[in-house]
Amino acid sequence: MKLPLKEIIQGGLELDFELSTEALNSRSEKPLDEKATDQSLSEAEYLFTEPASCSIKVEKDGETVYLQGQVKTQFSTHCSRCAEEAISGVSSPVKLQFKPKSFGAALGQEDEDLEISYYQGTEINLSEPLADMVMLQLPFSVLCSESCQGLCSKCGINLNRGTCECEEDQKPEGPLAILKSVKIQ
Ligand SMILES: [Zn+2]
Ligand SMILES: [Zn+2]
Repeated sequence: MKLPLKEIIQGGLELDFELSTEALNSRSEKPLDEKATDQSLSEAEYLFTEPASCSIKVEKDGETVYLQGQVKTQFSTHCSRCAEEAISGVSSPVKLQFKPKSFGAALGQEDEDLEISYYQGTEINLSEPLADMVMLQLPFSVLCSESCQGLCSKCGINLNRGTCECEEDQKPEGPLAILKSVKIQ
């Protein structure tokens, strides 16, 4: 999605458009920074399953362009209890400022403020900054369903699909059973 600057009329411009799943998924594969090698992050895989619907108001003040609105989409990931596929929606508020590239370079403040992006030439590429807004709102854990039973901590069976022998151990039957349940926690 590229927005020619000359289309931003006085009084602002209301934009409704879609960001492709490709645009979203290409951002999601990229680690947000080099520190994102942490296990919990690399295990969090998100696949966007539908284009993001963007509803944005664009305004211009001198050379600065302001974006305000919302981006909504749907993604699939692994349930954090049972590891099966879980589908969830994400809705991200958008509040962005774009300044001409030379402005940021002169001040040397590029990348320091996530809410400021830069444009070069006569148009603004909205896809990447908007996709990044979505990435920032992704939850760390998603459940396939509120009532997901998860996996048995002993045998690993998916308790949404069946029961296992181990379950009976968790019923308090005497002092020993209580000790076991303490260990489980
Ligand atoms: Zn689950
Ligand atoms: Zn079990």
